[in-house]
Amino acid sequence: MEHICPKCGVSNREAPFSGPFCIKCRPVEIDCPKRMEFIRCSKCKRVRLKGNWVEADESKLAKEVISKCKGDFVSGTYDFRKQEATFFVGDRRQVFPVKRKIKVNVVKNICPECSRKSGGYYEGIIQLRGKKGRIKKAQRDLKKMLLKRTFITKEEELKEGVDLYVGESKAVVELLAELGLKAKITRKLAGQKEGKRLYRTTFLIRL
Ligand SMILES: [Zn+2]
Ligand SMILES: [Zn+2]
Repeated sequence: MEHICPKCGVSNREAPFSGPFCIKCRPVEIDCPKRMEFIRCSKCKRVRLKGNWVEADESKLAKEVISKCKGDFVSGTYDFRKQEATFFVGDRRQVFPVKRKIKVNVVKNICPECSRKSGGYYEGIIQLRGKKGRIKKAQRDLKKMLLKRTFITKEEELKEGVDLYVGESKAVVELLAELGLKAKITRKLAGQKEGKRLYRTTFLIRL
């Protein structure tokens, strides 16, 4: 017996049917959130998922979005640019896509680890000494480049110059080598941290 799909008019001789509708027009129930939000640390780029801060690229976040959706689909993908999820629905005979809009925001914040670090931790101090104008320029340039590699805990304006407190000494060593800047380096044992010796390195730069 011939059936005509009431929605698109296709006949069951041309397309598979599911109940009164052809398989493409059959109502699909997919339950998904209208909007979602992720928090990404702007320093270490990790994302908070289920209470933990983890490494997560877009494809991992897309999987997370799809995992919040329930329904009759075989698989799904999420497109951050279009803010749209595509679900693949069907059976052994035919699979077709169903789209749903889901608004996903990625909010910037600082994870507890990074905030603890920037709350006082540092391995190196860059001491800039010399003419005021040169110090200002070096301070500006160094800061810009350092922030791409590490974090700056504190900046101190002193009578004799400027001190920059920097998260990682290694980053300072690399940067100075790259810029060809000479520094007088002194290293001091500053205590222990998780069983490891913690050194503080001072880089004195005369400008
Ligand atoms: Zn139809
Ligand atoms: Zn972080």
